[in-house]
Amino acid sequence: MQKGNIGVTTENIFPVIKKFLYSDHEIFLREIISNAVDATQKLKTLQERGEYSGELGDLTIRVSLDPKKKTLTVSDRGIGMTAEEIDKYINQIAFSGATDFLEKFKDNANAIIGHFGLGFYSSFMVSKKVEVISLSYKEGSQAVKWSCDGTPEFKMEDSKKADRGTDIVMHIDDEFKEYLEKYKIEQLLKKYCRFLPVKIAFGKKTEWKDGKEKETDEDNVINSLEPIWRSKPADLKDEDYKKFYRELYPGYDEPLFWIHLNVDYPFNLTGVLYFPKIKNDLDLRRNKIQLYCNQVFVTDSVENIVPDFLTLLHGVIDSPDIPLNVSRSYLQSDSNVKKISKYITKKVSDRLDSIFKEDRKAYEEKWDDLKLFIHYGLLSEPDFWDKGSKVTLLKDTEGKYFTLEEYATLIKDNQTDKDSTLVYLYSNDAVGQYTYIQKAKDHGYSVLLMDGQLDTALVGLLEQKLSDNGKEHVRFSRVDSDTISRLIPKKEDAQEVLDADESANLSSAFKSQMPALEKSEFHVEVQPMGADEQPAVITQSEYMRRMKEMSKLQAGMSFYGEMPDMYSFILNSDHPVVSKINAELKEQTAEALKPIEAELKGLRARQAALRDEQNKEKDKFPEEQKKDLEQTDADIKAQEDKKNDVLANFAKSEDKVHHLIDLALLQNGMLRGEALDSFVKRSIELIK
Ligand code: ADP
Repeated sequence: MQKGNIGVTTENIFPVIKKFLYSDHEIFLREIISNAVDATQKLKTLQERGEYSGELGDLTIRVSLDPKKKTLTVSDRGIGMTAEEIDKYINQIAFSGATDFLEKFKDNANAIIGHFGLGFYSSFMVSKKVEVISLSYKEGSQAVKWSCDGTPEFKMEDSKKADRGTDIVMHIDDEFKEYLEKYKIEQLLKKYCRFLPVKIAFGKKTEWKDGKEKETDEDNVINSLEPIWRSKPADLKDEDYKKFYRELYPGYDEPLFWIHLNVDYPFNLTGVLYFPKIKNDLDLRRNKIQLYCNQVFVTDSVENIVPDFLTLLHGVIDSPDIPLNVSRSYLQSDSNVKKISKYITKKVSDRLDSIFKEDRKAYEEKWDDLKLFIHYGLLSEPDFWDKGSKVTLLKDTEGKYFTLEEYATLIKDNQTDKDSTLVYLYSNDAVGQYTYIQKAKDHGYSVLLMDGQLDTALVGLLEQKLSDNGKEHVRFSRVDSDTISRLIPKKEDAQEVLDADESANLSSAFKSQMPALEKSEFHVEVQPMGADEQPAVITQSEYMRRMKEMSKLQAGMSFYGEMPDMYSFILNSDHPVVSKINAELKEQTAEALKPIEAELKGLRARQAALRDEQNKEKDKFPEEQKKDLEQTDADIKAQEDKKNDVLANFAKSEDKVHHLIDLALLQNGMLRGEALDSFVKRSIELIK
């Protein structure tokens, strides 16, 4: 029997391993099994090269639990190790500057383990004792047993082992009892070993018989699923990709399409990425792409390796060239990672481009599901615009699709306003904004449907990008953001039909009857919109609404979020009903208003004179006159209130006023509750 010290320059590596590698304990299993896979692959290679002529036999790697002995064992039938080899590979884990290194990477278990070939030693993270029992494939070898209980001392002695290969027996520490649980080990194996190239069996399959769970003779193979990304695309059918997807993401709808990645220069990378069909926001949770290194699962957080917007994709990336074992911040600056990220973005763009060109119809059919990815890409990845914008479609309210270029051509003639701005009209709710859409269509305008999660932000980006090309100025306006003539102003405004006083009185009368809706404000104005337009419409200014919507998406804009919704209630002075109301208002309020108007006239003249003087005198404006002006201001205010009361009194008793307001609200889905109830009652009265 041989006894010795493990050749680490650090006094004692084990406390270090245990102490520092607390976060990722579970990866010990991945490391031990990876070693078993390597040993098995090496044997296969030796046989292929003719350096080993014995039988390969069943190469299954077996994982087993012994709850009584509290051991977890990984057994392979690979090349095994002689005593000299154990001494060389296991005992001499000498590296210089170990302490510095451990200190530097103490928060990152992966870094330490991978970087310095500590793979095997990670078993000590969870074990109080580890035994290696090995028989080399070399003819006439003597089986050997190595054991170590977590001190730098090991024991090595001759042993008996019938079969070629290595058993790693881990005596699990009491602190880590979970690794003696069947479900836990199965879960870890499924996570890390699902696609390993050598069969991994964890005990036997079980079946339910006579109300009991019984073991069958069949191996419980963990990695029965083919890692299709390793196959050549030419050898795979659509169904293979779909089947693989179903296995990886059970419960998801069929993917929209997929991209098979395959490069070997200047870095090595294979994989399959899927565009999933997103049904709800919950599906958007990230971390759906799995990262492998030679078929060993590494992580499912791939930020920094693929551009942000592509983290919404599903699938698998496998690359031995991604420095898996270093910290996140290092990843970002790694040049291989940058190249990989660029490569993936390019592959995705190319694939989108080819699907679009090869089968536009199929692309259009997928667009509604696809657009979220593309929109997100356009918004978050500046490099994506050039290619992404070419495969971006706009959909109109009739369900027709256009490229950006096609659409600009389509609307150019009819939707350019008097200042040469090209106006894109859109709706985010085809049903709710039906009247406005219809009105626009009557004018020969096209209306886009922009009802996606990211459309608010996209509208801003498109406005900027499409204007940026220097050729034209582009503006997006939601179809209900103004009256039809002002959405795309073509010529100078139509002639006012009412004089300023009439307009002011009419506005004031209506304003007094506008409903008090929570967090909403109405501004009332009078406009000549044409006799065949509606008597009253409600619009919401594009700018304010968009700012409010953006504030929901973006931090730091809460100021806008707090603002009430601002609406304009616009009376059409060309409409006969409005003329009629105006006439009645004048007639019914004339008498009451007359003295007030006279009073106001005098007061305003006085106010004007006093202000004039104040302007001339500046600092020397006498105190007495100052008081006089203040009093005049107050008197005017009082008279105006009086006037508004008269107008409100008229409006209050005038059904036509309420009816116009209610109809406009109704058209916007804003007439509810008590207001809706009284509208219905009033309407019934009208037809009685
Ligand atoms: P690495 O795998 O990074 O080289 P490890 O500490 O995990 O580092 O293993 C050290 C060496 O021990 C391996 O390179 C291999 O030569 C040998 N080894 C480990 N496990 C086995 C095994 N199951 N069968 C044969 N050799 C093994």
